[in-house]
Amino acid sequence: MAGTWIEVDLDAVAGNYREIVRHLRPQARCMAVVKADAYGLGAVQVALALERTGCEAFAVTKVEEGLILREHGIKGAILVLGPSTAEEWPKAMEAQLHLTLSELSAITEINEVCLDLEQEVSVHIKLETGMGRTGFRFSELEALAHNLAAARQLKVMGVYTHFARAAQKDKSYTSEQYELFKSYTAKLEELGIHPLWKHVCNSAAFLDYPEWHHDFVRIGTLLIGHYPGPGFSGKLTLADPWIAKSKIVHLRKVPKGTYVGYQSIYCTKEETQLAVIPVGYADGLGIAPHFVPQGWVDFLKIIIKNFAALFGIFLSQERVELRGRTVRVAGKIGMQLTVIDVGLQECTLGDEVKIPLRRTLANPRIHRKYKQDGRIFAERIMEEGVSAIYPEYS
Ligand SMILES: *Cc1c(COP(=O)(O)O)cnc(C)c1O
Repeated sequence: MAGTWIEVDLDAVAGNYREIVRHLRPQARCMAVVKADAYGLGAVQVALALERTGCEAFAVTKVEEGLILREHGIKGAILVLGPSTAEEWPKAMEAQLHLTLSELSAITEINEVCLDLEQEVSVHIKLETGMGRTGFRFSELEALAHNLAAARQLKVMGVYTHFARAAQKDKSYTSEQYELFKSYTAKLEELGIHPLWKHVCNSAAFLDYPEWHHDFVRIGTLLIGHYPGPGFSGKLTLADPWIAKSKIVHLRKVPKGTYVGYQSIYCTKEETQLAVIPVGYADGLGIAPHFVPQGWVDFLKIIIKNFAALFGIFLSQERVELRGRTVRVAGKIGMQLTVIDVGLQECTLGDEVKIPLRRTLANPRIHRKYKQDGRIFAERIMEEGVSAIYPEYS
């Protein structure tokens, strides 16, 4: 039995989906963004649960992610948001994935592959309005229309753009992006391209701009029970589907003055118990994306944190929960083992500990247990880090 696992409550995910749908403009639908393994929850089980709840469209970044969803029975539209390559097109077409167009040269090439396979393919035009990543600029639209006119196998299902700063307080950049989107799509119409669906909103824009919902909103963050930023908390009633847990596998009473872990940065201040849990930074514990200070307050926080650490005071020390109480991590988090200082509270070998694992950074090899109607409904155990097993039992 795994000593560390993640419980994913699929009812919570389904509830979040229904809550999002309740806040949609009447003509709009929710496309579930399940990229990066549904932000770590597990793309297949999350997409299946959402499909059972009525979700008709999904988005991923890569073709391979889309193929996995199809192989596991997802029937809805699956949009590949990222660029795709020629080797991937035949498989993507066979699986009826929707491809994103963001490269002029790809249009003719995709059309040729379609002709060879006697297939049509649904495509979405990505417009670059300020993210600076992928998409067509205004100056390319005429060439785009020209190429599309000759590419008869391509069905233009959608047109979209992606916001860079929708979660930030200052909304002016987002408004500029939206104005560009409007002028680009007007130009496309003028050029005779009439995409069926328009979609621009991610989680933050969905909450802030109901008038921009159009045909679809593309939602990831809210579905997994998070808000896109501090200013958004409480705008919906969301449930958290995620609990990461580990078990105490070693427990010792130690005297005051015991050093713990690499570099001995932690020293017990009194008699206490040290417990070991089988989880570490290789599993994602204590790992966070690179943090860029937004202004002087953030910058000062970083300075103060690092200054305090020089004196052995760790302000950002991770905390875990044992028997309902908050307990500190003692010393540095190891690769696969972490020590916690549990004090003299009663506890025993095998006790469960709730751990703070960032969803998108949790190792996919960690065992997932999927709950529905209050019981474990399916599990996922990764073998060799790649092949997934999804035993489903009732
Ligand atoms: C990830 C992503 C989304 C979802 O964004 P959230 O803020 O997580 O809802 C939407 N659109 C694109 C293009 C994305 O890459």
